[in-house]
Amino acid sequence: MSRDASSLLDLDECIEHLRALIRIPSVNPPGVPEAAAGLDSAGAERAAAQYCADALGAVGIGTEVVEIEPGRGSCIARLPASVSEPEAPLILLSHLDVVPVDAESWSRDPFGGELIDGEVWGRGAVDMKDMVAMELAVMLALKRSGAPLRRDVIFAAVADEEAGGEFGARGLVERRPDLFRDAHGRPAEAALNEVGGYSMTLDGRRFYTLQVAEKGIVWTRLRSTGSPGHASMPHTDNAAVRLARAVAALAEDQAGRRAVVTPLVAEMLEAIGLGEVAELATSDPDAARSILEERVTDPVVRRSLDAMLRDTVTPTILRSGKKVNVMPGAGEAELDVRTLPGTDQETLLAHLRDVVGDDAEVEPVVALPAIEWPTDAPIVDHMRDALERADPEGIPLPMMITPGTDAKALAQLGIPCYGFAPLRLEADFPFLKLFHGHDERVPVSAIAFGLPVLLDVVRSYVVD
Ligand SMILES: [Zn+2]
Repeated sequence: MSRDASSLLDLDECIEHLRALIRIPSVNPPGVPEAAAGLDSAGAERAAAQYCADALGAVGIGTEVVEIEPGRGSCIARLPASVSEPEAPLILLSHLDVVPVDAESWSRDPFGGELIDGEVWGRGAVDMKDMVAMELAVMLALKRSGAPLRRDVIFAAVADEEAGGEFGARGLVERRPDLFRDAHGRPAEAALNEVGGYSMTLDGRRFYTLQVAEKGIVWTRLRSTGSPGHASMPHTDNAAVRLARAVAALAEDQAGRRAVVTPLVAEMLEAIGLGEVAELATSDPDAARSILEERVTDPVVRRSLDAMLRDTVTPTILRSGKKVNVMPGAGEAELDVRTLPGTDQETLLAHLRDVVGDDAEVEPVVALPAIEWPTDAPIVDHMRDALERADPEGIPLPMMITPGTDAKALAQLGIPCYGFAPLRLEADFPFLKLFHGHDERVPVSAIAFGLPVLLDVVRSYVVD
């Protein structure tokens, strides 16, 4: 006998799980007290994984806490399919780690998990312990309902997303691919993950982001060399100057980088009333930029839209010299390079080598291609339908994000991973600014909207 899972969905319990998870300071890198407001973060990812395992285990869901390295825990749980010929699984993916805090810049305790004026405060509130708690609540509701499942539902809350996933998704995909497959060895048919799903109000219209693509990453190192010597008798072979010149040349090159309008981004701009930007982006970039300036008031949204229109090369770290009176013999810079679907990363690197010339060597350190999944997949239809039922005025908006997620790791197993953490937000809520920002928090009302939507999508996709 099964019961209706939506009547068993417990918002209060979900909020308490979120608050409890925020209080576990699972800062990445672990074990650096300054990064965790003085708290001991060693082993905190394992503690967070164990927290999820306990909550799921308490209702009889089979769980496993996997540690690729001691302390770097991930929680994997599975609700098995109950039909004789199941379809391939659905994964509810999330990450348990959070980025460091600068506690002095916060107006509240970043690891307090406080509930203040209808908002849950703390590191991870939007990135992404909110979704961990929502996916947990969906698993509990499904289990309590006893609903027959036509595919396995796999809950995977993993470590180390914020540092590339070697001890989390990427490591698990390499060493334990079975965790993401069913008993017949078939990889999951789809996964739901972070970022997309939130609402965005533009020109008075509310859009819900359906994240079907993300840009590629090439973390790149620049190396300059020079001749050491006493700085009181200078020569021109100075590694610091070469490095600065190379970085300045790259910045200038970036400022003039041509736009490339991918079909997905063109469609998205059209839907939000910025079709003109898509049309002019390549032929008249200045005009396209001024339309963006004029029409999109939120500077973070504007920068995000601009970054969807081109590859970006951003110098982030510079090192050279050790002593004020010694000319540096070496210099190093790091570049955060993000590529659109369709960009050949090798060709872009060759271009960067031309730009810096003799001033620096250019060496890729981590390269992950962009990903883009079909917008007409059944799971995406379920997202549209669930949103339509919950907010008939809202407009689903397939989109690309500029940062990377663990979706890149699942892509190695061929698993399409969609960003869908549904939240209905007030128009002026500074959502994107809170990712890795100070005073990270999430309105309870946003989760009260999103949690039933998430269950609706999962249920449509998995319940027989
Ligand atoms: Zn995240």
